[in-house]
Amino acid sequence: MFTSKESQFRVEKLRAQVDDLRYRYHVLNDPQVTDAMYDGLMDELRKIEKEHPELVTPNSPTQRVAGKPSEKFEKVTHTVPQWSFNDAFNEEDMVDWEERIMKVLEKESGSRPKDLDYVCELKIDGLHMVLTYENGNLKIAATRGDGKVGENVTTNIKTILSVPLQVKSLKSKVQSHLVVEGEVWMDKEMLKKINVIRAKQGEDLFANPRNAAAGTIRQLDPAIVAERKLVLTSYDISSDNAPETQEQELQMLKDLGFKTDTHWKVCKNLKEIFEFHKHWQKNKTSQDFWIDGVVIKVNQKKYQNALGFTGKAPRWAIAYKFPAEQGATKVKEVIWGVGRTGAITPVAVMDPVKLAGTTVTHATLHNWDEIERLGVKVGDTVVVEKAGDIIPKIIRVLDKMRTGEEKTIREPKNCPICKSPVERKQTLDSRLQTIDDERGSKVQSPKSKVQTVALFCTNKNCYAQQLRRIIHFAGKSAFDIKGLGKKIVEHLVKEGLIENAADIFRLTKGDLDPLERFAEKSATNLVDAISAAKKVTFARFINALGIPRVGEETAIKLFNL
Ligand SMILES: [Zn+2]
Repeated sequence: MFTSKESQFRVEKLRAQVDDLRYRYHVLNDPQVTDAMYDGLMDELRKIEKEHPELVTPNSPTQRVAGKPSEKFEKVTHTVPQWSFNDAFNEEDMVDWEERIMKVLEKESGSRPKDLDYVCELKIDGLHMVLTYENGNLKIAATRGDGKVGENVTTNIKTILSVPLQVKSLKSKVQSHLVVEGEVWMDKEMLKKINVIRAKQGEDLFANPRNAAAGTIRQLDPAIVAERKLVLTSYDISSDNAPETQEQELQMLKDLGFKTDTHWKVCKNLKEIFEFHKHWQKNKTSQDFWIDGVVIKVNQKKYQNALGFTGKAPRWAIAYKFPAEQGATKVKEVIWGVGRTGAITPVAVMDPVKLAGTTVTHATLHNWDEIERLGVKVGDTVVVEKAGDIIPKIIRVLDKMRTGEEKTIREPKNCPICKSPVERKQTLDSRLQTIDDERGSKVQSPKSKVQTVALFCTNKNCYAQQLRRIIHFAGKSAFDIKGLGKKIVEHLVKEGLIENAADIFRLTKGDLDPLERFAEKSATNLVDAISAAKKVTFARFINALGIPRVGEETAIKLFNL
């Protein structure tokens, strides 16, 4: 055993080495660092700290996952105001934006600047985070909240290995007070894995990467957060001696040991911005994170300062979003499924339409209120959208396409499954609420809910009956559809993709594509299995119908008559 002084020396060496490996692996993506190298050193560090608890410091790598699960998150008032960005959706919006800033600068100094350029950064779809460092040490990590007050999620952010607990010292003295902003995100593979687990546990799937990051950061137990291996990419730093350009600011973040995205580019003019935007729109799926647009900032701080802010957004920056994948198609019918809670949810069955590279035939209509809000009828031509979300949704009706043949959707009075009476209930629905996110984009809020009218089956056992029937239908003794087990059936019913057994045969690969995010089975395999099952034997067919007291054996007898 070491003496206390030797231990202290050894502990310091180990911490420095462990942190360097962490930095090389999680910030620089150095492939030469292996888990084994890291784990061995961590084990030794833990051992010495256990023998000498007096040597434990809050910044020790062993303290990243520490502390008991919290009961709630404390409120934090931001020292740096958290702005949103205005959005641009097309080149015209961008031309207008540049014209606006040029006019402001012309008014300030009498002429339009010749040397103004822009920094274009990828807009990562995640959760905005504000990190405060005091004397180089991570003090507080907070969510954006309403821009003024956020929630203290420091214990959770400390588990993220791309976040330095202590900044690297620069040649110039480290500022006593640093505020770093960045985006927390979950990589695509991890989201897929977590949705597998959630599906198996019968929990709601994370609908998009932002929900996944937000849901994880709001976990009360830091150990669970650590398992999900979130990443934090930083893009903004506020300090007393701020650099003169955004470009230098990104470099400064890198020098201080923060992970930055390396794909940013300085653009001289709109033409270069449009090229950058087009390139990344085409390649938006090439990274481990989701990209939903490009953020453009005026590079020079002197111009940023001259431009200032309007309302809640800086004039000197804009988020140029990628368009959501949309298509137009015709609603053939509306089917009603029964959810776990007895909620009766409408799903539009549509003519096949290509969205994000796959063919889709179903879109969710959420609830009765949504049908009324859209004013959608059977036979209508509608715009369908597939954003980051799992299930496509109907955005609006193209009413100029109406022929007069459209049929009003009738509110069901009886449950489509068990025929029990239906009741109307006011419910809190979290799916329809859109709010401004950190950068002023319209997104679904994972938290806030909105009052809506939904329909419910009054029969408590309805959902279970429905499931049992479909599971029987897909099972070994009936259609024997490989890969269509209980969990998948449950999920399809819950998402409203199928209401009864026959609906299975209407599913396309595009409808099943979201399954790839949570099932080991690929959508292609499942579609193949379904079409193979169409050639089922007569005996099995009879059995699949689930006629009481007609089992497979009786069915064979019937067949042989
Ligand atoms: Zn029912």
